[in-house]
Amino acid sequence: MTTHQLPVLIVGGGIAGLSAAWELQRLGVPYTLLEAAGRLGGKIGTEITPDGYLIEQVADAFIVQKPYAEQLARELGLAPHFIHPRPDTRHLYFLKRGVLLPFPPRLKLFVPLEDQSFLDSGVLSPEGLRRFLAEQEVAPKAPTTEDESLESFIVRRFGPEALDFVVPLMAGIYVAKASELSMQAAFAPYLEMEQRYGSVIRGVRTAQRELDNQPARPVFLSFQGGMQTLISALEQQLTGDIRLNTPVAEVDDHAVRLHSGETLQGRAVIVAAPAWKTRELLARTQPAAAQQLAQLRANGSVAVALAYRTDQIAHTLNMHGVIVDRQEDTPLSAITLHSSKMHGRAPEGGVLLRAFMGALEPAEALQAAQREVARLLGVTGEPLFSRVLDWRGQNPAYQLGHLRQIERINAALPPTLRVVGASYGGVGIPDCVRYARAAAREL
Ligand SMILES: Cc1cc2nc3c(=O)[nH]c(=O)nc-3n(C[C@H](O)[C@H](O)[C@H](O)COP(=O)(O)OP(=O)(O)OC[C@H]3O[C@@H](n4cnc5c(N)ncnc54)[C@H](O)[C@@H]3O)c2cc1C
Repeated sequence: MTTHQLPVLIVGGGIAGLSAAWELQRLGVPYTLLEAAGRLGGKIGTEITPDGYLIEQVADAFIVQKPYAEQLARELGLAPHFIHPRPDTRHLYFLKRGVLLPFPPRLKLFVPLEDQSFLDSGVLSPEGLRRFLAEQEVAPKAPTTEDESLESFIVRRFGPEALDFVVPLMAGIYVAKASELSMQAAFAPYLEMEQRYGSVIRGVRTAQRELDNQPARPVFLSFQGGMQTLISALEQQLTGDIRLNTPVAEVDDHAVRLHSGETLQGRAVIVAAPAWKTRELLARTQPAAAQQLAQLRANGSVAVALAYRTDQIAHTLNMHGVIVDRQEDTPLSAITLHSSKMHGRAPEGGVLLRAFMGALEPAEALQAAQREVARLLGVTGEPLFSRVLDWRGQNPAYQLGHLRQIERINAALPPTLRVVGASYGGVGIPDCVRYARAAAREL
């Protein structure tokens, strides 16, 4: 067999590995996908209980502004299964000094689209709110290729107090310390707005005026049957060689060695496992790349899913969730109220939520989540059931200089070996899909 008749070998069957396989299949290139676990999907998965509660392991939706995941879903014929967060319950609360404050209206992530309602909101002190809006008068930084942390950027543009409001919104997505999180890797559009408009607030408001002239589109997308729908559709429509329960022990540019001892030859290899696993797979065969991969770090988080009956909860629950002020004395960072946010997440009369916590021990996280949710929402009695979703050590940390580090990793890899997935080009599902498909095309 010549090299060109060999399949592309894909290590890892999370959304990145599956997206690479899908792209190769469309291009008519044979592939063999090797997944260590007994199921596909990696972190993504949905549990539906016999009573009809739908619990997501990680993502409950993805953004459509980056169109790559939506496009993949459309190619798989999933458009009839699309659902969006409910607009009628689209309220958020901000927990500050033990009180649930309604979120400022007309906010684009953390940027107010108009001043007065933000000034009235109480999410910062009156002085902090005024300083926040004065961002429009702060001169932009001289153009630079140097990276900057989220903390430095927010303090520089919006004032130090703004961290308490902005960091829970921004760093929550990346599960990272604000002083270490890379603006270039995680929030490049805000750096661009600073340069282009001289102010983030001006940039966001200008972009919004353009959007106001177009038909409104929902920002987030999910599926009636949960995120597992995307994985199941890929599983059904991928017709290539997919092997479950097949952990890979070592990877080189044209081969992988399995834990079973068997070696598979390929025309090229795509590793779609997290960076900390990939580093081990390349340690002996590609030490220079492994050394660069070792510079990437991971952070941890634990989420606790809790189910109740509606009559156990005093709060109206007319909301998508709660974001917690950075200064608040609680291990809780946010709550998502899934049964209010999207249809079909709990049976009639049932409430399903997830409490996002720091990297606590699972038993401690469960106890703390129950206690905090009971305190904030006025719960009586025990939850109907709970799940602890333990992601300690499994959230890629996009540290300062992340993009340069990715360049170094790529430069150290031979041309027929690619690394893809959440560790590199973006943790959200759209970016995982985008870069995995791009790597498959380039190979
Ligand atoms: C709590 C939480 C909430 C999130 N919420 C959202 C959200 O709302 N929206 C959003 O867009 N994103 C969200 N994300 C991010 C997103 O879900 C992940 O970044 C994405 O699913 C990661 O996909 P992946 O394919 O890169 O990696 P993974 O899903 O980790 O897949 C890697 C695969 O490689 C396999 N593997 C590892 N080692 C080997 C080996 N040696 N041999 C063979 N196989 C191997 C693993 O078993 C796994 O199946 C969230 C993440 C977390 C943790």
